[in-house]
Amino acid sequence: MAGEPQDDCLFCKIAEGHIPATIVRETGTTVAFRDINPQAPTHVLVIPKVHYENAAELAAAEPAIAADVLREAKSVAEEDKLESYRIVFNTGSGAGQTVWHAHAHVLGGRGLHWPPG
Ligand code: 5GP
Ligand code: ZN
Repeated sequence: MAGEPQDDCLFCKIAEGHIPATIVRETGTTVAFRDINPQAPTHVLVIPKVHYENAAELAAAEPAIAADVLREAKSVAEEDKLESYRIVFNTGSGAGQTVWHAHAHVLGGRGLHWPPG
């Protein structure tokens, strides 16, 4: 069921502590951890502890937790002293989504081109 932990979901397992990750922040509703394949000096994923397939589904069902994810993204950027940073929600396989549990990428620490390509 939406919002419930999924047995086959990597990020549910990280949120539950069943798979190790380099966790940088945790709140009652979110976990932030370093991406295993970083694309920038700071590349942190912020996830809700509840399982939704993507950010839009999360925002529709749990808007307060979607806001928590954004607040945590800002805190990650502050902790890494990023003046500029990018928050990305890949949504759908055509946009590069590979993990079907909502997550924000927080990227910074290098120049970020726009449009991203
Ligand atoms: P997506 O492509 O779905 O937007 O992002 C998924 C991200 O999860 C990718 O950037 C990928 O490197 C990262 N990732 C995949 N498996 C793991 C893992 O086991 N641990 C961590 N920390 N990150 C992972
Ligand atoms: Zn999940």
